[in-house]
Order: sequence, then structure tokens, then C-alpha cells
Amino acid sequence: MGTDTYRAHNFSAGPAALPTEVLEQARDEMLNWQDRGLSVMEISHRNPAYMAVAKEAEQDLRDLLSIPDNYRVIFMSGGATSQFAMVPLNLLGNGGRADYVDTGHWSLKAIREGGRFGEVNVVCSSEEQSYTTIPDRSEWKLDPEAAYVHYTPNETIGGLEFMDIPDVGDVPLVADMSSTILSRSLDVSKYGVIYAGAQKNIGQAGITVVIIRDDLLGKAADACPTLWNYQQVADNDSMLNTPPTFALYICGLVFKWLKRQGGVEAMEKINKRKAEKLYKAIDSSDFYSNPIDPRYRSWMNVPFRLKSDDFNAEFLQEAEKAGLLNLKGHRAVGGMRASIYNAVSEDSVDALISFMAEFERKHD
Ligand SMILES: *Cc1c(COP(=O)(O)O)cnc(C)c1O
Repeated sequence: MGTDTYRAHNFSAGPAALPTEVLEQARDEMLNWQDRGLSVMEISHRNPAYMAVAKEAEQDLRDLLSIPDNYRVIFMSGGATSQFAMVPLNLLGNGGRADYVDTGHWSLKAIREGGRFGEVNVVCSSEEQSYTTIPDRSEWKLDPEAAYVHYTPNETIGGLEFMDIPDVGDVPLVADMSSTILSRSLDVSKYGVIYAGAQKNIGQAGITVVIIRDDLLGKAADACPTLWNYQQVADNDSMLNTPPTFALYICGLVFKWLKRQGGVEAMEKINKRKAEKLYKAIDSSDFYSNPIDPRYRSWMNVPFRLKSDDFNAEFLQEAEKAGLLNLKGHRAVGGMRASIYNAVSEDSVDALISFMAEFERKHD
């Protein structure tokens, strides 16, 4: 292993950066995996060698997040967006109500899709604050009879993150953790369902992790497609049909890489440091700004604006020349966004901060 291949500083929001070591291993094993004379994507998902890959990936994820035994871990296709429909189809039965917290773009998408399958109650919203903050827990209008409460712990586009798990009593808490899973330690036992598309902080696009407390299985609506039925998928080890085998293999390599880094606790320390130094650089300058309530600034996605949008094009062009890629903000927010997931090293964050200081010096 080892390579001198050029690797840029990649701040993509998703599909996002992967650890170079993971890509090197995938490259080295591509043609001749485990000395079998074929690639991992060229064998049956029922082959014991592949089933071992799937089992190990699940076990490594269980180890990384200390997932309790009464939770099932399944791997599905269709991205987090499919989960916006699967959650109500699996948890509302043939009717029923659910509570949703609205903190931005992804919350809203979940709310709109959820409303197609059941009665959805928006318990609070920070829309009036342009989604720059999280409504105080005391203002949430929760329904004690709700089948679940859905929220988005990290709003990938807005750059808004919950720092604590909201207390919703005995109602199962459902979380779209697509852009925050594995970035910091997590008490899985506080949740009913956790789901996450892989292409932000786990692996490549095409696979989604779902972690479900086992008492929530078996409640699906009659109309729920078999392939979307959590119980059926769990009972068949996520292999009701052909799973995205290569995508799961890559997830497995990332889980091993995370273990080698010291696990989620070690990543948490690094991620905290990365985010704090980037926000500090933004706050200590008059040229850059971040609109988010400092209490809820995301560790993973850092949106920022320049003094004037007139500088945007030049900033992006110069950044690209310096090897800093994919900094353009989402069109809904504008400005810039640096996504600094696990695979984005502290060196990359340092390079960005230096570049920003230099750009400011030249243009302020
Ligand atoms: C990216 C993202 C999604 C959408 O994921 P897809 O895999 O494209 O469906 C949903 N929720 C959050 C929080 C995300 O970051």
C-alpha cells in the first residue's frame, strides 16, 4: 500500500471524501480479492466468503456504536430519502400519527413524504428563524400517543446540529443521522430507529444503514412493500434480494479504518477540534460569517459567507487551484460550505483556514 497519487482536500457534502487508506485497499484487492482470482463484486451474495464480509461489517458497526443486543442492524438501498417513506410505512401500521421536528431542509423532506403515509404533526419549527436555531424543547407540542417522534440530528444543508438527544418520554425517537453518524459517541439505547445514507460519513452512495429496536419490528402497514419491511429485511440478514454488495464491502473497510483510528471516541475529539478551529477562524474575521446559533453549530457541515457574494466565484476558483474542492454552498443557503466528515483530515481543515486567511488578506 501507500501511494503518491495526488489527493485533493475534498469538502464535498455528499457523496463525500473517503479515507485514502480505504480506497487503496479497495484498489489493491480489486482484481484478486482474498486470492480468489476475482473481485468482491463478482461473487454471489450467498457465497460464504461474501456473507462473512456482511457479518463482519455489521459486527464492526455494532462495536463502534456499542449497539445493544435488542437492536437489529440492517442494510438497505434507496438512500435516506427512501427512509422518509419506510419509517411511516413500518411504524404507523395501518393508520396512526407521528410527530416531526422541523429544523430545515431534510426535516421538511421527511415531513412531506411522511404525510403521504399517515397523519404527521409538526411539533415545532425554526422556519421563522431561517433555520438558524433549534426551537427550545419546552416549546415542542408533543403528542404522547404518537407512534414516534422524527428529527434530523444534523441538518447537512443548514449546518445545524443537536448537541444533545431530545427527551421525548416513552415515544420512540427516530433520527435521520445521514450526516452525523459515527462522528461522535452515541447512546443508541435512547432511540427507536436510526437511519443513515452511507455517502456522507460511512461509505459510498447506494447503501443505507438502519438500526431498529426490536420491539418496533412487525408493525408495518399491509401495503408496505416486502423489500421495505424492516422485519422481513432483518429476518433475512438484509439479503431478501441482491444487496449492493460492493457498497457494503466499502462500508466494512471504513468501519475497520475507524477502529484503527481509535473508534468513535477518538473521531469525536478530532472532529470537535476541526470544527472549533474552523468556526474560530470564521468568527475572528469580519470577512467571513456563519449565521447559525453558536449553541447548535454543526461539527460536520460548516456553511459560511464571504463579505460580499461578488467574491464567491473568485474564492471557489482560487480554492480549486489550491487543491481545496467542493466548497460551493447549497443553492438554498448560498455562500460556501465546508463538509468536514471523518475522512476529512485535520490537515485539510488547516489548509482551508490558511487559504481563507490569505484570501481575506488579498481582498479585504
Ligand atoms: C444527504 C441526506 C439525505 C438524502 O440522502 P439520499 O441518500 O440522497 O437519499 C437525507 N437526510 C440527510 C440528513 C442528508 O444529509
